[in-house]
Amino acid sequence: MNEPHEVTRRRRDFERQVTLSHEPQHSKGIAEEFVAECNAIQLANTTAIRLGATAAYAASLVHAYWRHYGEELPAYRSADCRNAGNLDLRRANSIWP
Ligand SMILES: [Zn+2]
Repeated sequence: MNEPHEVTRRRRDFERQVTLSHEPQHSKGIAEEFVAECNAIQLANTTAIRLGATAAYAASLVHAYWRHYGEELPAYRSADCRNAGNLDLRRANSIWP
């Protein structure tokens, strides 16, 4: 198995999960892209598992995606999107994203 290609494939898989989690954020009234995106990244793990991914695979997707967060368009990024940051949905624990 070619490792870089495997990572790229996982990232694409996860991008689909994030997209699936991102749009409903707007439906809930969240207008800012960086908030919708940060929520989506944190919820995509659950979305992937709900769609049949194993917990281990979902976690590997999250990590492959998170590694490239800095490459997203500026409107989709925030310095508060981090563990214990203002956009952390689970501030009570250290699970991130
Ligand atoms: Zn959006």
